[in-house]
Amino acid sequence: MDSTITLLGPPGSGKGTQAERLRDRLGFTVLSTGDLLRKARSTGTDLGRQAAGYMDRGELVPDDLIIALVAGAIGDLDGRPVALDGVPRTVEQARAIDELLREHSRMLNAAVLIDVPDDEVVRRITERRQGRTDDTPATARERLRVYHRETEPLVRSFEERGLLRRVDGAQDPDSVEDEVRAALS
Ligand code: AMP
Repeated sequence: MDSTITLLGPPGSGKGTQAERLRDRLGFTVLSTGDLLRKARSTGTDLGRQAAGYMDRGELVPDDLIIALVAGAIGDLDGRPVALDGVPRTVEQARAIDELLREHSRMLNAAVLIDVPDDEVVRRITERRQGRTDDTPATARERLRVYHRETEPLVRSFEERGLLRRVDGAQDPDSVEDEVRAALS
């Protein structure tokens, strides 16, 4: 089983759900930058204040803030299997995270892409509002544009490195989970 992985996918692809399942059923520690940023906002830290506007507009929080956030969290992982959820999201973040992992005697073993076509993403976005401040149709559409512009080049780079495992995310969560597990075994 791969022990350092990242989950990638467009907004609404179910990354968070699959990350929780990896945690609850396979013992992964999940490092979700989205969750850490939401926590930073609700506790009112400097980082939370700096990130809020970007999040509410559906834009990416600047790389230096994300890299500092991951650097702070990665030291606590010891040897446990870890699933990065929603990070890296840019080529620059990927470079920095490779370096951080190396410093902790780890390396990325797999990048699992939970693939959902745009029309399904838009359908989910308009049907399922989760009550987050960035969960409006306009913001979600911006997040989808940002995903294509910033994160898809990263998907190609993981593919070139032989790390990419593609999973059909347009299925029910149990079937997606089965494919994720198969992709990691
Ligand atoms: P998520 O819960 O992963 O969809 O993240 C929600 C929001 O947090 C995103 O729309 C971004 O504004 C911000 N965010 C989370 N992870 C990252 C990241 N790796 N790089 C930049 N921004 C991020």
